[in-house]
Amino acid sequence: TLSDRLTATFKNLRGKGRLSEADIDATAREIRIALLEADVALPVVKDFVAAVKERARGEEVSGALNPAQQVVKIVNDELVNILGGETRRLRYAKSGPTVIMLAGLQGAGKTTLAAKLALWLKEQGKTPMLVACDLQRPNAVNQLQVNGERAGVPVYAPEPGNGVGDPVAVAKASIEDAKRKLHDVVIVDTAGRLGVDAEMMAQAAAIRDAVQPDEVLFVVDAMIGQDALTTAQAFLEGVGYDGVVLTKLDGDARGGAALSIRQVTGRPVMFASSGEKLTDFDLFHPDRMASRILDMGDVLTLIEQAEKAFDQEQALKAAQKLTGQGGEFTLDDFLEQMQQVRKLGSMSKILGMLPGMGQIREQLENFDDREIDRVAAIIHSMTPAERANPKMIDGSRRARIAKGCGRTVSDVNNLVDRFFEARKMMMQMARGGGMPGMPGLPG
Ligand code: GDP
Ligand code: MG
Repeated sequence: TLSDRLTATFKNLRGKGRLSEADIDATAREIRIALLEADVALPVVKDFVAAVKERARGEEVSGALNPAQQVVKIVNDELVNILGGETRRLRYAKSGPTVIMLAGLQGAGKTTLAAKLALWLKEQGKTPMLVACDLQRPNAVNQLQVNGERAGVPVYAPEPGNGVGDPVAVAKASIEDAKRKLHDVVIVDTAGRLGVDAEMMAQAAAIRDAVQPDEVLFVVDAMIGQDALTTAQAFLEGVGYDGVVLTKLDGDARGGAALSIRQVTGRPVMFASSGEKLTDFDLFHPDRMASRILDMGDVLTLIEQAEKAFDQEQALKAAQKLTGQGGEFTLDDFLEQMQQVRKLGSMSKILGMLPGMGQIREQLENFDDREIDRVAAIIHSMTPAERANPKMIDGSRRARIAKGCGRTVSDVNNLVDRFFEARKMMMQMARGGGMPGMPGLPG
């Protein structure tokens, strides 16, 4: 994978301040190969690599990631960015039925998609209708009817022997029918050919003019690889479209077509189709597609985890600075934390409103203020050496401390136990175990 290659490229790079020009060039070569292997079109690869190089030049070498991971992250971010960042939603008509027209080559998956989309819309409370405008192949109307039945969505089709052969007339009539029957979405399935063809384009354009669609969706098979871009360009000129649907993503195609089409036509990929079942369908997710194109979802997860762990480490270091704590967590720190908690106590209501703070709020509310005074009294009876190094507090020291502050030895034992418990918790946090609660607070 790209990550393996980059790791090899960066074998000798450790702890430099920035990626060198030679490092960047070597990286660019590997990214170029990976993208071409994923079926991204050559001119798109060139632009993309140039953009990644530009970004890589400006970046400091991260403390969290090794250089290979860092470049992978840049590549991934840039991919997600181009693929759309966020999914574009269907535009619905302000009044009357929303008309969605499908266009694409034969076998692209239009008829299957028509039913998938209809089912998806139905599940969102819409009342879609399917329209059979592929009158080219004898079996096409029947195929849509079978699919419509599976989706539980009605299909508008020409009566046998009546108007057969004129998809434009069928399309026009279907809109009137949808209005009468109060369908709020009309999905128009059209004919395709095996290759781009002037007659097919003319027919699709005529249907488009007849139904005035709110959305024209170009449906394309991800398995056709590099050809996807030329087809997409031909349909953009011949019919025009607003969005793209990528089909057959259950196959082993890496989906570079998504990047090429988005970059060259400017049209967003809106949906992804991934199987023959009607439910094998989803909104297009740029982040998932990016990791598919790069073929390394696992690496990206690792990168995310490494960054998170690094953030936590930084946060802990900052916290340690705040409490003036160079190394070990001491009894003085423990006391100081408790005193901070007292200040926080008055804020417990506000804390409770923050996500994830509910548990801490509960602890704060159960917290007895006088407890802090008792703890403070005990700690103040210890010598500075004992506070810095609580392990030295043996039995005779405990007896002395108890006498000094007027508490029992068992009170002192209790406090020392709680201190070691809190310190263990701090160490867990430092190891990336998250924040189980507020250290120093009684359960
Ligand atoms: P159309 O000619 O554009 O209408 O394409 P069809 O909807 O008839 O699909 C052509 C073939 O591809 C059919 O056998 C479908 O079952 C199959 N197909 C469609 N979408 C998908 C998909 O996402 N995954 C897989 N594996 N097959 C699909
Ligand atoms: Mg079809």
